[in-house]
Amino acid sequence: MDKKHILIIEDDLDISRLLRLELEESGFDVTHCDNGMRGLSAAREVNPDLVVLDLGLPDLNGAEIARRLRKTTETPIVILTAKDDVSTKVEMLNSGADDYLAKPFHADELIARINVQLRRRTIGSTQSVGPMTIDPTRRQVFWDESEVKLSPREFELLIYLCNQPGRVYSREDIEKNVWGDELPPSSNVVDVHIANIRGKLRDAGGYGMIRTVRGIGYAIKG
Ligand code: CA
Repeated sequence: MDKKHILIIEDDLDISRLLRLELEESGFDVTHCDNGMRGLSAAREVNPDLVVLDLGLPDLNGAEIARRLRKTTETPIVILTAKDDVSTKVEMLNSGADDYLAKPFHADELIARINVQLRRRTIGSTQSVGPMTIDPTRRQVFWDESEVKLSPREFELLIYLCNQPGRVYSREDIEKNVWGDELPPSSNVVDVHIANIRGKLRDAGGYGMIRTVRGIGYAIKG
């Protein structure tokens, strides 16, 4: 669970600069290419965890790039485009893209969608953080040999924090990524869920796994 690497293929330098800043601030490594051919070779070289792909590039069109990427890799592809019509969307998803965002968009929304894609890709692979093991396929958590029975939401929250052990996630980030639009804005629901997870880990013998960062949020011990 090292830093995730995002490849941005986008010829608009204002957008790509902004994305690089926002993504790096969110703890990602970023590689940027400003045309399709360079993007395809960078995808082979850096083996990114996810590709953010602009549809309107000077050399190859986005659908073609998505198709070529799909021949060699299962890495998630999130398309950026000025077009917001249904036929383009269908074409993109058919060409192997995983998600689609119309410009102009807010960087936070792109990052939330990136995290959704990255979480989906962790399904099937068991993750370990210290003595804690998470099996996303069976949705089971173990502390050493003892199973920690979490509610679905507690499980989602724990998985989210485990994206990057050591990284501090703000309450806002947690709300946005674990609850999305369902959350009443003034709720202390994150704190309550963290307390529940801690209690359940403690019952299984696990202490000190989740760190509180006062005034900001929470981190899994990295
Ligand atoms: Ca463009």
